[in-house]
Amino acid sequence: MGDGKRRVAVIGAGISGLTCARGLFQSGAAVTVFEKSRGVGGRMATRRAPEGLRFDHGAQYFTARDERFAAEVRRWVEAGAAAPWLGRLCTLTRGRVESKDRDQTRYVGVPGMNALCKDLAAGLETRFSTRVETIELEGSQKNLTSDDGADLGAYDVAMVSTPAPQAADLLTAAPTLREKIRGVPMQGCLAAMLSFGRPLGLEFDGAFVHESGLSWVARNSSKPGREGAAEAWVVHAGPEWSDEQMELTPEQLLPRLTSLFWEATGLEPVEPTYATSHRWRYAIPPEPLSDRCLFDAELGIGVCGDWCAGPRVEGAYLSGLALAERVAAL
Ligand code: FAD
Repeated sequence: MGDGKRRVAVIGAGISGLTCARGLFQSGAAVTVFEKSRGVGGRMATRRAPEGLRFDHGAQYFTARDERFAAEVRRWVEAGAAAPWLGRLCTLTRGRVESKDRDQTRYVGVPGMNALCKDLAAGLETRFSTRVETIELEGSQKNLTSDDGADLGAYDVAMVSTPAPQAADLLTAAPTLREKIRGVPMQGCLAAMLSFGRPLGLEFDGAFVHESGLSWVARNSSKPGREGAAEAWVVHAGPEWSDEQMELTPEQLLPRLTSLFWEATGLEPVEPTYATSHRWRYAIPPEPLSDRCLFDAELGIGVCGDWCAGPRVEGAYLSGLALAERVAAL
């Protein structure tokens, strides 16, 4: 700690980890973010595909109820990183469409859902393709090691912002936190991304699906900043169907999700021009904790995520903010 700055490691570059990292960076800490994948976003994911196609295959949209999150959303909208999605929503039951009132403003990242995380990560030191495997205590320091055995450095404070089961695995050095986190369940979600050479003619842009293995379908190309792209659909299976089919191979999964899509929409199947699937093993925490974040001040180890504060983008953001405030107040 040569320059006197507190050294902070944040594990995970989803919205909770980046909000926490940015808050601590702004309060003067030396922050390093570690992310196992190649980019930011976590479950606010955007998949690029050939011919300029993009799919938001994780979080679909977000709402803002808390004033602090609403203020951040206004900032993103002004910066062009987010916009309201005015898609026509409905419920869909075996081809029967019932339209839904526009009861709240639904926002999306522009041009993809990961735009918000890119904004939060600007100026932060982020090390991608680095999966943290262990956090070991040495005096007041936390020593991090990657899954390939690399020494990732020593930190005064370590923040874990991964889904709960992955956080529990990382927290052997903090048994009290680990015990609390262990019991937090997370449900899976199996997703398909489909595009078609011509419009399907469906009268809606997003649908909550009933009486199906699916729970949601959305015309990704109806979201702002995705106009002009080929007709692109994201299909999500419901939690029970997903958890039951979680171990299917992609080759087995894709045709099943595609046929559920045709069944739900009531359309005659046509061949997609692009089709792929994605497995979210830890998608949604159905019973989040009510702590907002957890921090063991003696150990200097904290956790945040949607499973602490509410199972959506806003909850994850508020959890990251709360953890940054706890640490900054030390
Ligand atoms: P994550 O986004 O999961 O971030 C954790 C990060 O940690 C990931 O980037 C991961 O790669 C990384 N990581 C994990 N382990 C390690 C490790 N050992 N080392 C380094 N990095 C690691 N919310 C809404 O508000 N509206 C929606 O419509 C909506 N729909 C959803 C649909 C799906 C299919 C899914 C999956 C989620 C949806 N959500 C929705 C929930 C929303 O996406 C999450 O609440 C939010 O993105 C969680 O952010 P987070 O930072 O807590 O976690």
